[in-house]
Amino acid sequence: MSETPDNDPTPRVALVTGAARGIGLGIAERLVRDGWQVVLTDLDGAECEQAAARIGPAARAMTLDVRDEQQVREAIRRTEESHGGLDALVNNAGISDPHSGPLEELELADWQRWLDTNLTGAFLLGKHALPLLRRRHGAIVNISSTRALQSEPHTEAYAASKGGLDAFTHALAISAGPDVRVNAIRPGWIDARSPDQQKAEPLSAQDHAQHPAGRVGQPADIAALTAFLLGPDAGFVTGQTWTVDGGMTRRMIYTD
Ligand code: NDP
Repeated sequence: MSETPDNDPTPRVALVTGAARGIGLGIAERLVRDGWQVVLTDLDGAECEQAAARIGPAARAMTLDVRDEQQVREAIRRTEESHGGLDALVNNAGISDPHSGPLEELELADWQRWLDTNLTGAFLLGKHALPLLRRRHGAIVNISSTRALQSEPHTEAYAASKGGLDAFTHALAISAGPDVRVNAIRPGWIDARSPDQQKAEPLSAQDHAQHPAGRVGQPADIAALTAFLLGPDAGFVTGQTWTVDGGMTRRMIYTD
């Protein structure tokens, strides 16, 4: 397996979906800091342009609705044209609000909106990026959720989409190996608001203290593991789903 070693001066190229803000933006910022060229994609092209401009010349922006196969095909083609190839794909775009209301009242179109964005989007990106990733012995990271494992009421569509994404991850790891590694990250509670918003409306002490790690997560926490999983030090790691939740899914929560 010949993944690009850290001392190779050729910049590695990553495409991150849903990167205009939140966790996706944090991942894009981290990868650029690590020397990657990053294509930030999002539904909101203008916000994405602003984010890429703030990050600097190693970041490019592209409007992309991950539910639209034609747009996905075109985004991959344009990435190859502008960057010469692709080393990493981060499927982060998602409807991050998990609350879809009581199942009896959930419209089929709304169920499909969650599934199309959170799961089918990863399929479409994976499908069209795979030939490029194979050529560079690249890697994929899918951003799942601890809600694939545990639930609040009325979150069926979101939970199903993330459970599907976990299964998609291990299935694709088997199909795409040994050329391409595929992993997923299950974030817990990540404060994905902008630093200004976080300062203006801080979370409570209790919000932080309930976590065994002592705090709510930040996009940088997810970005750090993403950077590791995409890099050569993770060359023996594939088909896994990594929980990054400050320990919350390890805490017993039965009431006395
Ligand atoms: P945000 O809502 O801040 O960011 C998600 C981004 O994805 C937005 O810019 C959104 O655009 C974009 N997006 C939505 N639909 C599409 C689409 N069809 N095509 C392209 N882009 C799209 O969420 P987070 O940063 O919090 O979440 C990022 C990922 O992490 C999601 O997959 C979420 O499920 C997951 N996650 C987040 C957790 C958290 O606590 N924050 C916990 C567990 C998982 P727009 O705003 O215009 O819709």
